[in-house]
Amino acid sequence: MRACGGVAAEEEILVALVDRGKEAIRYLEDRGGVSLRAWPAVGGTIDYRPWHPGWKPGARTLDAGKFALADLGEWAPRLRTGAQSAWLMDKLDYYAQRMHLLPPNPNAPRRTRLAGEGVGEYLSSGSALAGQLLRECLNRGVQVFTETPARELIVADGRVAGVRAERSGRRLAVGARHGVLIASGGFSGSEELKRMWLTRPLLFTCEIDACSGDGQLMGMAVGARVGNFDAWWMPQTYSAASSSEPTNIGGTREDRSLPHTMIFNQHGKRFVNEAQNYYDICEAFGTKQDGPKNLPAWLLFDEQGRSRYLMLAGKVPAEPVDWYTAADSIPELASKIGVDSSALVTTVEQFNRYAREGHDPDFHRGESHWDVAWGDPENKPNPSLGTIEVPPFHAIPIFPGALATRGGLQVNSRAQVRAALTGDPIPGLYAAGNCSTGHVATAYVGAGATIGAAMTFGYIAARTVAAEVTSEAAVAGD
Ligand SMILES: Cc1cc2nc3c(=O)[nH]c(=O)nc-3n(C[C@H](O)[C@H](O)[C@H](O)COP(=O)(O)OP(=O)(O)OC[C@H]3O[C@@H](n4cnc5c(N)ncnc54)[C@H](O)[C@@H]3O)c2cc1C
Repeated sequence: MRACGGVAAEEEILVALVDRGKEAIRYLEDRGGVSLRAWPAVGGTIDYRPWHPGWKPGARTLDAGKFALADLGEWAPRLRTGAQSAWLMDKLDYYAQRMHLLPPNPNAPRRTRLAGEGVGEYLSSGSALAGQLLRECLNRGVQVFTETPARELIVADGRVAGVRAERSGRRLAVGARHGVLIASGGFSGSEELKRMWLTRPLLFTCEIDACSGDGQLMGMAVGARVGNFDAWWMPQTYSAASSSEPTNIGGTREDRSLPHTMIFNQHGKRFVNEAQNYYDICEAFGTKQDGPKNLPAWLLFDEQGRSRYLMLAGKVPAEPVDWYTAADSIPELASKIGVDSSALVTTVEQFNRYAREGHDPDFHRGESHWDVAWGDPENKPNPSLGTIEVPPFHAIPIFPGALATRGGLQVNSRAQVRAALTGDPIPGLYAAGNCSTGHVATAYVGAGATIGAAMTFGYIAARTVAAEVTSEAAVAGD
């Protein structure tokens, strides 16, 4: 984590994540109604930057598994779900059996629902985790308000003592005896905050609109220090499964690592190792100041890729759509999308030479353990490199996107929000998750980098409050 975070990572945060993370998981499993499964080192469950010291070929990932929506009773419809929420198969099987390498077959098992399909009886992944946590809150009699956005923190006697919220157009004050934990997510619901706080263009995010920076702004209004504004980057493409918008269904992770794929820019040039992890690859699109230099960009694959891999075949729409272009030659493809034809021909020819040699001297694709783990082991000489030479050729725009934005309220290792001027904790104010700095800055260290950090700091905040309440009680002789 230190190597990934570099100088931007705060030592005390890294130590808290490592030391308290496992404590948080144990607590949630023993007393929080959460059940998690550890994945063995299989398939692509590998550290995202395997060139750093201490990397592991997997066995760090926890998964919430399968959750029955019915367990939530009348609360079931209120849990927010999406296409990836549905449990259609064990995710571990998907990775262990390298199902992203399956050939096209209409009867092949699917891991996600198609657009328009209901979520079904069982949830997986983050939705299963959220379901388990909500079930436990309800079991314990926690009062959960929905459709009640907090608008302002209440400060009394120099201490955060509650929030003012809004419900059905009416103001509502909620008092907090021991403190307020802000966990309101990122800020991609606010164009203004994205413009000010991000250095790169963010064209698509999976974050919900309600995440519009409220928590960061409410904290700033009571004097909080802020920093580490960024996003959990992940490029997006369109896909036939959800043809009307860029989507992370199926992701642009496994597909970019498959042989017979390449990414190029408006100059017809490659600009990045296509197979690298989804966070780092977004750097290559450029910053706002650059223009950005590598947009628009396209994911290119040929008929070899489409006929060998279900994942690529799933990107090709059955009906004509404006985001997808196919052509029988590279010059024809280039002219259809307005890219310099001779430049693209030269790039593809060079890429094909590299694929035949199994070596990419320009961007080192197929060299790291990550690239190889997500490639096709049957593909020789390099699991990640395959020629693009069999028509038709398929081109789909690719965008710098993100799972969510992040950064804001600066926390210490006790999840207390620091004051802007002194750096001291603001009494009664805590933060966790994407609205805070409680994660490894500047890097996606591995699967769960966002949820794991959010859960750890949520747990730390509760522990800090509990410790304070206990010591106050001891002083008062209770
Ligand atoms: C499809 C998908 C796959 C993902 N996969 C992974 C993964 O494998 N591993 C991983 O670590 N991360 C993953 N992520 C990212 C991860 O889900 C988020 O980063 C994480 O949920 C952030 O947690 P959070 O608690 O900070 O914020 P959120 O989960 O965004 O929750 C913030 C909540 O605050 C609420 N809110 C906002 N403003 C207010 C207000 N004013 N008052 C009251 N409430 C407010 C919002 O409605 C929201 O419910 C994935 C995301 C998606 C969409």
